[in-house]
Amino acid sequence: MTRWLTDQASSATIRTTPIDRLLAIAVSSMDPHAAGFCDSSHITKQFAKCFGSKVVRRAALLVASVAWPSLALATTTKAPQPVKKNCGAGVVLKVSAGAAAQGGLLLTEVVGVKDSEPVTAEWDGRGVPLWRELQGAGVLHGLLGVDLEKAPGSYEWKVSWTGTDGNPVACSVPITVRAGKFATERLTVEKQYVEPDPEQQKRAEEDQKKMRAIYDTVTREALWKGKFRLPLKEVPTGKNFGRRRVLNGEARSPHAGVDFPAAAGTPVYAAQAGRVALAENLYYSGNTVVIDHGFGIYTLYAHLSEIGVHAGDAVGASAEIGKVGATGRVTGPHLHWGVTIDHARVNGLQIVEKQP
Ligand SMILES: [Zn+2]
Repeated sequence: MTRWLTDQASSATIRTTPIDRLLAIAVSSMDPHAAGFCDSSHITKQFAKCFGSKVVRRAALLVASVAWPSLALATTTKAPQPVKKNCGAGVVLKVSAGAAAQGGLLLTEVVGVKDSEPVTAEWDGRGVPLWRELQGAGVLHGLLGVDLEKAPGSYEWKVSWTGTDGNPVACSVPITVRAGKFATERLTVEKQYVEPDPEQQKRAEEDQKKMRAIYDTVTREALWKGKFRLPLKEVPTGKNFGRRRVLNGEARSPHAGVDFPAAAGTPVYAAQAGRVALAENLYYSGNTVVIDHGFGIYTLYAHLSEIGVHAGDAVGASAEIGKVGATGRVTGPHLHWGVTIDHARVNGLQIVEKQP
């Protein structure tokens, strides 16, 4: 069943305290993936752990100055409305909303095309997969992921097929990308805490290459079935997806996942069925599992203490794939969970709450 998405438009209040900032800077300078682990919502609980780390304590002491972050405070926007476009000859394009914020997700449908007709779609000039959930229903489904750093603007979602007269037909819908409302941290730190040494840098680059090759692979089959689920049971998240960081005046990678603070050893579950694309130790993200769910949808689980699967394994929805840990560049146990759709890094909470 399709439930139309609405964009992540809601009230959001972000509060920080001076000690939050000091800890956040110490941690974010150590781990671009896990940044945010010690900040904001779960800072109090993690206080002892954060200061218990020698590395973090040193980093905190080396903070030269802290420029107070610009905060997105209590902002409210109207939820964008679903879009429907009649393309003629019975073909209709539907998008769950005409606008989405960075890191958001949109559901798309192409209605009225025969199963026998090849249909392709692209967004912003890039091919995006379409799939049929029911044969003979004349409906193709798709998911558009808005990368958390995609430049705000209007981008055409264009669908092409062959008309009844044998000629190519195209129809498109403009989709607006809005800036996401993410907190920005502006901090000044010792250089060594933002730049890994050449050997570490080399390893991190190799990991990145490996990840790119995985995300470049689009499995033309839906390996998932039904709703996506959270990877942990009964563990609240830090809600720190997308946090921007400016260190020493230089923009660094934003936080591309959601962190779940949890005790080491807590079981981690596959968000949906799929095939394990990667199960190994990486420089920043430690013991990492990546699951391919098909059609360009991937989920990533980082900093695990134990990995319970191997690359190539088929996993079912909610299968245990490992345990929460503190591997890679982190200061305490937590799960970093990432969701990628056609290379776009999106907020995983959306695929759980609002996907088809
Ligand atoms: Zn993280």
